[in-house]
Amino acid sequence: MARLFVLIAAAVLVYAYLKRQRQDERRTVREEAATASARVVAPAKPVRACALCGVFIPEDEIVIAKGGLAFCSEAHRRRGHAEPH
Ligand SMILES: [Zn+2]
Repeated sequence: MARLFVLIAAAVLVYAYLKRQRQDERRTVREEAATASARVVAPAKPVRACALCGVFIPEDEIVIAKGGLAFCSEAHRRRGHAEPH
């Protein structure tokens, strides 16, 4: 009788585990779909590559140096200005 109880408890645990795993999978798929649609929307914004690290930044967030070079941040603008390629 005790063994039957253990079997039932194990079955419930396995069922709960599988159910949670399926929910996680579904959530991951939904998150991937959201990321994919964001990726499709993103190129509509004009972007420029940082002259120092090459990261692409939307033009409204870019830091422009005196020479017209674009940088991803004030720190990179200063570094890019101090030591040009
Ligand atoms: Zn940069």
